[in-house]
Amino acid sequence: MTSKLILAMDIGGTQSRVALIDSEAQILKRVSVPTEAGEGYKVVIEEIRKLVIKEEFDRIAGIGISIAGLLKAETGTLVYSPNMPGWVNVPIKRIFADEFHIPVYVSNDASLAALGEHRYGAAKGLDSFVYITVSTGIGGGMVLDGRLYLGADGYAGEVGHMTINPGGPVCSCGMRGCFEAMASGTAIARDAKERIASGATSIIGDMVGRDLEKVTAATVEQAARQGDELAQDVMHQAAVNLGIGLSNLMIIFDPQAVVVGGGVTKSDDLIFDPARKTVAERVGKYFAKDIPILKAALGDNVGLIGAAAFVYDNV
Ligand SMILES: [Zn+2]
Repeated sequence: MTSKLILAMDIGGTQSRVALIDSEAQILKRVSVPTEAGEGYKVVIEEIRKLVIKEEFDRIAGIGISIAGLLKAETGTLVYSPNMPGWVNVPIKRIFADEFHIPVYVSNDASLAALGEHRYGAAKGLDSFVYITVSTGIGGGMVLDGRLYLGADGYAGEVGHMTINPGGPVCSCGMRGCFEAMASGTAIARDAKERIASGATSIIGDMVGRDLEKVTAATVEQAARQGDELAQDVMHQAAVNLGIGLSNLMIIFDPQAVVVGGGVTKSDDLIFDPARKTVAERVGKYFAKDIPILKAALGDNVGLIGAAAFVYDNV
């Protein structure tokens, strides 16, 4: 008997990826398509039809879909997605189930990334850990006692919107001082721009030809590595904020480790050293132990691998 396959999808804000994955989590085939608002999933469906041949379709045990936003666990409905404003109350699970007549499992991208890291990545062998991804935003997921924890409706792990500072900067969600508004790549770029706009000295202005709109977290990191004090301070502040957020999560869950993924992992020492110090001050003394902060291991394919793991968990 031939082994079963999983059709995994990672639907992102600008790109969606579709892959055929075997039972050892090996990606056999993969295709990327631009994600469009509105009824963009129709493009994804067409691409699946092109990617997967009939013989393979017969071997597919389930479809796993990873997508950014609030997913109602019971119905597989995308309630809202920050990256795709046109996708409101989209019955993702029903659409793909009606189209392909294969069981469909849908969940939030960060939750499935946590599951992927648990089965095949940095958290392999751990029973309880918290995963966070820090890039333009911050997302999270938890595996507790060996199982992915999704909460009452499927919304658990929206850690990017826990409040770090009620008087802090305005977040993409409209509230002030969310973790995401204080420690993400977007927060780093915004903080640097604001300080320079109000007259602080930095080499960043020259690096972007005086066009502050071009400042990204990568620009700030580069300036910090060249000794720019403003950039170093901005990076340090974001790292301390990251440490505060991680400390809150550790105090709630007492995890065996926290796994951090996303673009921030490239900043390495500039972010991780101050974040670890903050955690040591806040949690280390209180719990009288260090909870390890690990870097995610699966890279860009984490969404696809996590979606496949979610199907294996359910079929
Ligand atoms: Zn927020």
